[in-house]
Amino acid sequence: MTSNYQFSVLNNVVDSSSQKTRRISDCQFSRLVSRWALPWTSVKKPSTTPSIIDTFDMNKTIGSGAFSEVKEGIHKENGTKCAVKIFKKNVLKSSDISYLKEEIRVLQCLNHPHIIKLYGVSEEPYHYYLVTELVQGGELLRRVQTKKKYSEKEAKTLCQNIFDAITYIHSKNIVHRDLKPENILLIHEHTNVEIKIIDFGFAKRITPSTSLKTKCGSPFYVAPEILSKKPYTTQVDLWSIGVIVYLLLVGYLPFDGNDHPQLYRKIRRGKFSFHAKHWSEISHDAKDITSSLLTVNPDSRLTAKQALHHKWFWEGNNSMDPRAEEIIRNFHTSTNDVIHNQ
Ligand code: ADP
Repeated sequence: MTSNYQFSVLNNVVDSSSQKTRRISDCQFSRLVSRWALPWTSVKKPSTTPSIIDTFDMNKTIGSGAFSEVKEGIHKENGTKCAVKIFKKNVLKSSDISYLKEEIRVLQCLNHPHIIKLYGVSEEPYHYYLVTELVQGGELLRRVQTKKKYSEKEAKTLCQNIFDAITYIHSKNIVHRDLKPENILLIHEHTNVEIKIIDFGFAKRITPSTSLKTKCGSPFYVAPEILSKKPYTTQVDLWSIGVIVYLLLVGYLPFDGNDHPQLYRKIRRGKFSFHAKHWSEISHDAKDITSSLLTVNPDSRLTAKQALHHKWFWEGNNSMDPRAEEIIRNFHTSTNDVIHNQ
């Protein structure tokens, strides 16, 4: 019985996910992952447990990253689709394995409608596998490229969803560290605003008093304090969201350069423009939230929670957009969850 523990739980989750993914209980979810969050050596799959290949048909490749290939998996018995992130062991350095372990531990802490759900993890002779929910609307970057830019109304709703998710992540003392439109997926092709945040490969659990030093992120979205090698906090995610908000509204990036050194100099200075040609139709509030995010000093930069309260999300003078009110109400409820094992 023990030998089939991993996949019996995985099967449970996948069985129930076809119609009612949301109804996977927290208990099932944490039992599923906690086994794999034990010391790495215990991750090894008992030899009698069916392998991922025995459990899923591996379909087309749906994406690839620096360390992984992501395939669509179809459960052989019930036909449920999921995403399988595959890591080749022979190309992973020990530091990559540390990031992978942290990615798993972080995902096990998270349960939010705008964050990818982890269903299971497996170690096999040549690969590690992360099985997650499948998101079928494609990357936000592709959507922006297709649309050229977002209308302000759609950008606002999309940004509320991003801030909602990041407020939740930060309330759990987790920093994502690689927010960019490639790591935000639309849930299907018919929505421009409903999203799931993916790729927690650089994410890290911290304590409120911790500051981080490791240089990581993606060039156009990286915060100035990381480039300046200063200790940094969860506020780096807010800078990256500032770049994303700018991109959504006008379809181009606030900082660019002929090479990385030039780009990084511009980011460290934090000087960008609201070019009249592109920004004249955009509201003062949208520009205000963008500047308040693209603020070099992280202590003066908006936090995720402050961003949710920003007047851009208000309609009229004194009444808050009902959706923003709902998000903030839900957020207050969700902060009761705390991370174990910090
Ligand atoms: P890496 O950590 O190696 O960069 P990612 O997690 O970013 O890998 O995945 C690479 C790409 O695969 C993503 O940009 C996305 O296009 C696709 N992808 C990842 N996870 C999913 C998913 N759950 N559903 C659909 N596509 C996904």
